[in-house]
Amino acid sequence: MSQAQNNAPNTHPHITGSSFKLVTIAGIPIRIHFTFLLLLVFIAASGIGSEAGKTTGAILFVLLLFTCVVLHELGHALAAKRYHIRTRDIVLYPIGGIASLETAPSQQNELWIALAGPVVNLILAIVLGVAMFFVKVKTGFTAQMIGNLRDANAVLFLFNMIPAFPMDGGRVLRSLLSRRMNELMATRTAAAIGQSLALLGGLYALFTLNLLFLLVAVFVYMAAGAEANSLQTKVLISGHYAHEAMISQFHTLELNSSLKNASELMMETSQHDFPIFNGNEIVGLLTRENLLRGLAVEGPAGYVAASMQRDLVKLLPSATLEELLMQMPQNGAVLVMDKNALQGIVTRESLIDFLSLLQMRYAGSGSS
Ligand SMILES: [Zn+2]
Repeated sequence: MSQAQNNAPNTHPHITGSSFKLVTIAGIPIRIHFTFLLLLVFIAASGIGSEAGKTTGAILFVLLLFTCVVLHELGHALAAKRYHIRTRDIVLYPIGGIASLETAPSQQNELWIALAGPVVNLILAIVLGVAMFFVKVKTGFTAQMIGNLRDANAVLFLFNMIPAFPMDGGRVLRSLLSRRMNELMATRTAAAIGQSLALLGGLYALFTLNLLFLLVAVFVYMAAGAEANSLQTKVLISGHYAHEAMISQFHTLELNSSLKNASELMMETSQHDFPIFNGNEIVGLLTRENLLRGLAVEGPAGYVAASMQRDLVKLLPSATLEELLMQMPQNGAVLVMDKNALQGIVTRESLIDFLSLLQMRYAGSGSS
């Protein structure tokens, strides 16, 4: 249904053993998520007791439908290939497919890449419609299957062209808007238009008591907000590096410092995360949470060595902010190291400060 950009091959959520490769088409692995197989099992199970032919028909329909979904995703992937953007893989989920592009396309190219998927469904709907015209008996199994697939492709085309994230239509809209304004403004405007549409759709569904339509509207509203947020962050941080977001003036503690030393230093400096050294070597990180837990368990006389984190996230100063965001621990900080020398630390606070600065800078540059 959509295409996603992901620049970090090692943190790709799809390759975790929960999906397996079906085929490779044009150099692109097509994978199936295990939940998709559950869908088939569910259809087969819910058909128990009814005619065998009906269940077989339902499963055949789902398989053919998902072939159309694969073709939709291949549309995105092949359009991306024209712009020399590789597609890592296409993964099939019960709710649709996702083609993961290795790099983000430029705004101009995104228009054609986003359009290519729905256009495949439009062409399929037209071809199946023409085929239907030539089928003599309109009531048989084959005719019914062709008719259903034609309608499904028409729905896929219309649904994906809704101008709201994360649908392809949202990307098309953003790409068109970005010809008149900067990327961040275009993302925000497209998100606002998408959410307004979802809100109107939701109201309409309420008045007509159409539950399915209401569910779709709620899904689109929430997904549009989430997608817009992640796109905004992506736009903001692109072209920026770890060394820009780090604090280079900071205090450190020795391995044999007491928790009392640590809490005094925290009160004096308002620093929350302390790198812990053993001589010249960095061996740990003591966060505010580590310190509080240590104080509760061991009291002020305890050593930082017992309470600190030993799993450290280290990045080069030249690491991109995108890499940094992906590796930033939930609770802790990233150490910016150059040849074993600690250059600085990126904490949650320093990162938020830097992102706010970027946001101000972007807002200042306005539309162009
Ligand atoms: Zn799509």
